[in-house]
Amino acid sequence: MKVYKFGGASVRSAEGIRNILSIVSGVNDNLFIVISAMGKTTNAMEIVLEHFMKTNRKEALQKLEEVETYHYEIIKELFAKPENGYVVIDSLFSELKEFIATSIGDDYDCWYDRLVSYGEVISTRIISAYLSESGIVNEWLDMRSLLVTDSKFREANVRMDASQVRLQNAADFKTQRIYIGQGFIGANIKGDPTTLGREGSDYSAAIVANLLNAESVTIWKDVPGILNADPRLFENTVLIPELTYLDAVELAYSGAQIIHPKTIKPLENKGIPLYVSPFGNPTEKGSVIKAVTEKPIDIPVLILRKNQVLVTIRPRDFSFVLEESLSKAFLIMNKHRLKVSLIQNSAISISVCVENNRYLTDALDELGNEFKVTYNDGLELLTIRGITDEIVAKTTKDRTILLLQRTRRSGRFLMKETLVIKS
Ligand code: ASP
Ligand code: MG
Repeated sequence: MKVYKFGGASVRSAEGIRNILSIVSGVNDNLFIVISAMGKTTNAMEIVLEHFMKTNRKEALQKLEEVETYHYEIIKELFAKPENGYVVIDSLFSELKEFIATSIGDDYDCWYDRLVSYGEVISTRIISAYLSESGIVNEWLDMRSLLVTDSKFREANVRMDASQVRLQNAADFKTQRIYIGQGFIGANIKGDPTTLGREGSDYSAAIVANLLNAESVTIWKDVPGILNADPRLFENTVLIPELTYLDAVELAYSGAQIIHPKTIKPLENKGIPLYVSPFGNPTEKGSVIKAVTEKPIDIPVLILRKNQVLVTIRPRDFSFVLEESLSKAFLIMNKHRLKVSLIQNSAISISVCVENNRYLTDALDELGNEFKVTYNDGLELLTIRGITDEIVAKTTKDRTILLLQRTRRSGRFLMKETLVIKS
């Protein structure tokens, strides 16, 4: 069997969903299809949640109605008989309205997962019904009862052993050839919904592939494949046809937005290749990530990560930082979900580059109890692999560099943020 994953951009409109029908119609293999929420639904649900948490019920309901209308419009355009679409989502919106009208938002992260996860439930319900209406027999599965996770709400980790039996029983391919499940969501052992982190549907697809021993995973994306840089930011980008798992992990970790960083491990562990294929041109080759490639990447790769903060911590008593304080500092950062993307140390200080998120202030406060803490925000981290002086000159010209790390083959530049680098 194969795993296909369609992201939010691919399913943002009726046209995109018709394209899924066309892609799936041409496949004879057993398929497990993982789908994200439609378009910007996750962002919209986050706004619903913000209002809900402040008990602004009216605003929460208004925003939810926008989400509902958006899905209704897609259904109207998509289905021969739109009732077939409305009927599968009506009860979902009723559940959401009920929550908003009657509940009080206490634990933010827990409510986030309970409400925002509906985006994926709604999109998969619609697409499953549409494929059925179009003659593609399939079974809709609820990943909240199949993927068992820990209780780290908003960034849950899947428990592979506990999930395996459930998933293999639900998707045994005996009576069905095609299953459809949600990306991004699961539930803890008590059944409370969880989410796997923003853009986590890729990770879901990899988990499913691992647990069902898939032949391959294909992530259908609205790009030609994996490029050596983000074409919105850099000129003359080129396609990388083949990458090793190691290349892919490094790129994803450096902030290349092509795949979620957690995606590679479940695939590497079973040697399952990952194809990144152009949604708009399904016959084009795209890129493949696998264990061994024919030739190493021989072009420079540029990755820009925005919204970074440089945090410097120093023990108050002038003690050596690596010996005394390293693990304590990282425990605190880990607890507050700071994602460290770069580390540098001196005798008595450590500097780390982390992504700015809603937990940063709490983390800085707790670090401040133990250490002297200073920070700079509004930064971006440029990683260059396959570095040359020419590229450095071009990409860092006239920029204020706060921190620089360079090896023979790669370089990382932490700089003040600018919006566009394209020259
Ligand atoms: N819908 C989720 C998000 O927008 C998950 C995903 O798209 O991968 O983050
Ligand atoms: Mg997405």
